[in-house]
Amino acid sequence: MRVLIHKDQQAAAKWVAEYIVKAIKAKAEKTDKPFVLGLPTGSTPEGTYSELVKLYKAGKVSFKNVITFNMDEYVGLPESHPESYHSFMARHFFDHVDVPKENINILNGNASDLEAECANYEAKIVKAGGIDLFLGGIGEDGHLAFNEPFSSLASRTRVKTLTYDTRVVNSRFFDNDINQVPECAMSVGVGTVLDAKEVIVEAFGHKKARALAAAIEGPVCQNCTVSALQMHPHAIIACDEFAADEIKVSTYRYFKDIEKTNI
Ligand code: PGA
Repeated sequence: MRVLIHKDQQAAAKWVAEYIVKAIKAKAEKTDKPFVLGLPTGSTPEGTYSELVKLYKAGKVSFKNVITFNMDEYVGLPESHPESYHSFMARHFFDHVDVPKENINILNGNASDLEAECANYEAKIVKAGGIDLFLGGIGEDGHLAFNEPFSSLASRTRVKTLTYDTRVVNSRFFDNDINQVPECAMSVGVGTVLDAKEVIVEAFGHKKARALAAAIEGPVCQNCTVSALQMHPHAIIACDEFAADEIKVSTYRYFKDIEKTNI
C-alpha cells in the first residue's frame, strides 16, 4: 500500500485527478478497450471531480472511451432527489465532461428487484472487462463504499442497512434530519473493490484520522472494511495532514520518506 500524505486536500485532489488522467492515457496507448473507472460520491471526491473537469476543459483528457461504475446509491430515494447519487454525479462530474451517457453505470435504488439489480451490476462490471481503477472515500467508521463495519471482506454488490453513525453523518445533506436519510443503500462489496486493478482511497480532515490509522496500521478486519486495502497489490491512500493525525510518528515518517519524490 502507498500512503501519500499531501499538504492539504486541494493538493491531494489535484494529484489524484492527474493520476487518473495518466492511467486513462496509459491504457489508451496500449489498447482500444475502454478504461473502466469506479467512482464514489460524498464530500471527499468533490475536489478531484473539479480537477478532472478542469483537465477536461483544458483539453488534457477525454472520457469518451471511459466506462464508469459508481460505488453505491440510496435505496428508495428518487433519482431526481438532489441528494441521490445520480444527481450528485451529474452535478459534480457527468454534466461537465464527455463520458457517453450509455457508459455511465449507477445502481438503481428504485429497481423492483434490488437483488437482481445488484447481480446484474456485478455482471456488467465483468462484461466491461473489470474495473481498472476504483476511486473511493472512507467513512468515519472505516467503511469503504457502504460496507459498514462487520461487512464481509468478500462481499459483492448488495443492499446494506446503514449504521446509525453513517445516517447521522450523512444527515448534513438532509437538513440535519436523520429521519430523512434513507435506511438502506445498494453498494458494491469489499470484494468488488478489491477486484479492481488499482484502488485509490482519499481521506481528508481530522474526522477521518481514527479510521485511517485503523486502515493503515490496524489488522485487516471487518470492523474497518477499508483495512482490506492492505490485501490489494495496487492500493493508494491519498490524504491530507489532518487525516494522518492518528498514525504513529514512525509510520508518518516512513511514508513521507518513501514518497518524498512523489508529492
Ligand atoms: P464523505 O463520505 O466523503 O462525505 O466524508 C465518505 C464515505 O462515507 O465513504
